[in-house]
Amino acid sequence: MTSPDGLLSRHRAVLPDWLALYYERPIEITRGEGRHVWDAEGNRYLDFFGGILTTMTAHALPEVTRAVTDQARRVLHTSTLYLNRPMVELAEKVAGLSGIPDARVFFTTSGTEANDTALLLASAYRRSNQVLAMRNSYHGRSFSTVGITGNAAWSPTSLSPLQTLYVHGSVRSRGPFAGLPDGEFIDACVADLRDLLDQTGGVAALIAEPIQGVGGFTSGPDGLFAAFREVLNERGILWISDEVQTGWGRTGEHFWGWQAHGAAGPPDMLTFAKGIGNGMSIGGVVARAEVMNCLDANSISTFGGSPVTMAAGQANLGYLLEHDLQGNARRVGALLMERLREAAAGVDIVREVRGRGLMIGIELVAPGTDEPSPVLASAVVEAAREGGLLIGKGGGPGGSVLRVAPPLSLTEAEAKEGAAILERALAAASAAKA
Ligand code: PLP
Repeated sequence: MTSPDGLLSRHRAVLPDWLALYYERPIEITRGEGRHVWDAEGNRYLDFFGGILTTMTAHALPEVTRAVTDQARRVLHTSTLYLNRPMVELAEKVAGLSGIPDARVFFTTSGTEANDTALLLASAYRRSNQVLAMRNSYHGRSFSTVGITGNAAWSPTSLSPLQTLYVHGSVRSRGPFAGLPDGEFIDACVADLRDLLDQTGGVAALIAEPIQGVGGFTSGPDGLFAAFREVLNERGILWISDEVQTGWGRTGEHFWGWQAHGAAGPPDMLTFAKGIGNGMSIGGVVARAEVMNCLDANSISTFGGSPVTMAAGQANLGYLLEHDLQGNARRVGALLMERLREAAAGVDIVREVRGRGLMIGIELVAPGTDEPSPVLASAVVEAAREGGLLIGKGGGPGGSVLRVAPPLSLTEAEAKEGAAILERALAAASAAKA
């Protein structure tokens, strides 16, 4: 019993059926600190999902808490109608970090809204409502973003205000180009993209996650987006990099996911959300001024850029940079990857352990087959919970990828502890299935 006052049935009575809720006995989290959370019964868990990659630095980071309370004491909220120092200061930092020349930043309250804005800007700038999206992609739950998702499990309607053309490249091990070496895989995807574009009129933009998040932490080979970029440039098509999951150093080697691809320059726009606020709702778009300012209309965001969230974002980003959490993600991520690969080696239900930095996916299959197994994914997630570890599930083709994405301050000891729990959970699920 996780909710003594019947919170689960109250939840079910008033919230939508489609609102995803983890675990057979859903957990009510009542406290967090560092890389740990506690439930209403007092059970402690090592948190390897960080909300959903939202707790970027650590739970209850004192620097963030202090920034939020200090700002809340002064003024909780104004709006973009007034000068707002915390918003300007965070925009300056984000613009500088983005690498986009002459950058402008528009703050939203979610990743969905950030991508929606980027799509709006692209279609206004290019005067086209056609966009390219990757197969197996996810960019949010609004009408426009859900309408372009390339992942059927997350796409409840085929109606969309945008016309979407789907591009190959982010799923390496399945689909028509599976098994090709990196260079040939990229060539095949580029040829496919060219062919697609030859058959269509003006396309506004390509929107893509450097590593697909909801899609199961899967990505094409490094260099894919640099190759795509050349094709897009030839035709004046904008490149939007959705960095909602991959931004801020999570992938270890790079601050932004797109940098792994060696493209000559940054994307035309990048979108961000999740980790920047460490749990406070911040999203946003960075774009070249020419693109950002193409809208010929007034606009505001009532809550985007709210001072209290901006103060949290500044404190969180400051902590991340001062403590080189990107470097930590690289070092501890490599250790975690090694341990998880060892854990998976003796188990017949793991197809692949993949990822970068502290963004690691474990793809499961039914034993002796190549078939995704969401049932096994749920079994592992339940067993991990029993062992005191929270992870994500349900990503990827077939919904059978476990997602491991702890706060970026993860220690080596915690990485080893989490990997050991996961090893036992994998073994238990595999044995139960055999
Ligand atoms: N883009 C990506 C890559 C995501 O993973 C998500 C959410 O999971 C979104 C956009 C939507 O963000 P939000 O849930 O903050 O609206």
